[in-house]
Amino acid sequence: MSYIESLQRMGVSEQTASFCFDAEERLAERFREVDRIQDENQWKVLSAMQEHMVSERHLEGSTGYGIVDDGRDTLEAVYAEVFGAEDALVRAQMISGTHALTTALFGCLRPGDEVLFATGAPYDTLQGVVGIRPEVGSLAEFGVTYRIVELKQNGLPDIDAVCASISKKTRMVAIQRSKGYAFRHSLSVEEIGQIIAAVRAVQPEVIVMVDNCYGEFVQTIEPGQVGADLTVGSLIKNPGAGLAPVGGYIAGRKDLIERCAAWLNAPGIGKEGGPSLNINRTFYQGLFLAPQVAANAVKTAMLAAEVFHSLGFAVSPAADETHYDIVEAIALGAPERVLAFCRGIQAAAPVDSYATPEPFDMPGYDCQVIMAAGAFISGASIELSADAPMVPPYTVYFQGGLTYSHGKYGVMKALQALVDQHLVTLP
Ligand SMILES: *Cc1c(COP(=O)(O)O)cnc(C)c1O
Repeated sequence: MSYIESLQRMGVSEQTASFCFDAEERLAERFREVDRIQDENQWKVLSAMQEHMVSERHLEGSTGYGIVDDGRDTLEAVYAEVFGAEDALVRAQMISGTHALTTALFGCLRPGDEVLFATGAPYDTLQGVVGIRPEVGSLAEFGVTYRIVELKQNGLPDIDAVCASISKKTRMVAIQRSKGYAFRHSLSVEEIGQIIAAVRAVQPEVIVMVDNCYGEFVQTIEPGQVGADLTVGSLIKNPGAGLAPVGGYIAGRKDLIERCAAWLNAPGIGKEGGPSLNINRTFYQGLFLAPQVAANAVKTAMLAAEVFHSLGFAVSPAADETHYDIVEAIALGAPERVLAFCRGIQAAAPVDSYATPEPFDMPGYDCQVIMAAGAFISGASIELSADAPMVPPYTVYFQGGLTYSHGKYGVMKALQALVDQHLVTLP
């Protein structure tokens, strides 16, 4: 059976396939750049594992209090090295990115403190944590206040406004690397470094926390290398490579990591406690594969950008722009197109491919949301997935792809669904 025939057998027409192959050809040089970034990151992770003498015994876990757990401690040392930090917490007891960010916020902030969001309102789930959206147990209940500095019209950080908003109360400046669910530019690590340098010049003591979700291994440096005090992310995204079934990480200054551990576990127990159970092997293996998985996801995002841009849709990042995270925003402009796109992605999944995603009322959203994902790990958006709030301009946020072959097939299936319903015409 030929290459095209196997795609046809899986519901992609010859015309759709060749349209996507043409787009892929135009990306050849850019894919080579992604390969080079993958190589550098792979070697960085490998050398950290070698330097910390990771050995077979580290792959086993502990139970109960987990007071003696060399595997966990060594993994944390490896993470610290990779993320340019003094120390790290890498735990299954932190559910995901939201929980890791919550741990960092509650670990470091005290009543009367203010947290300044330097890149617009934080990611949706964090709005409840901070109390921007009222929730039981939020930081607001503890007398911690917040301030938000919006991005400029052009999507870049408003560094002057950030500096002008720093007061004596400002204990933390929070920076979000990825666009999350906003049609905006995702920050490069260099841009994050510029914000940090400017903030430090005004208030050297302030804690800078970077929400690194979706950004890991997309560039060859991480926020710790440009001065972030805390770098925080999710193990069900890039650094878990689709293998980690749960987890979050915080990498940063030793004294702050200790505070985060005291909040996560108990004061006095801190980082010494916390059993790794049977998860160490998976976390090591996930980190080892993460540079390749992140690169596959970036290539998938680039292909989607090229394909949908050449059909006339606005995409962010633009097809010829550098990608600073794994998310591609595609402004489809109509609800039927969003439905078709998401259903195409679902139909391309290894799990639940027969399901039909429908828009639903999700807690914390003021509109209906549709989510397509057929993932091995529930909610793991490093796996091929698409989400969209069902409001104008009907933008779908598309990300992940553990393998590029799967990502490519997903893009083709999404396009095919649009073509089949006459919502898009191929030239
Ligand atoms: C996904 C995401 C989070 C939350 O991470 P979860 O693992 O889904 O809890 C926070 N911030 C950003 C920018 C994200 O993309």
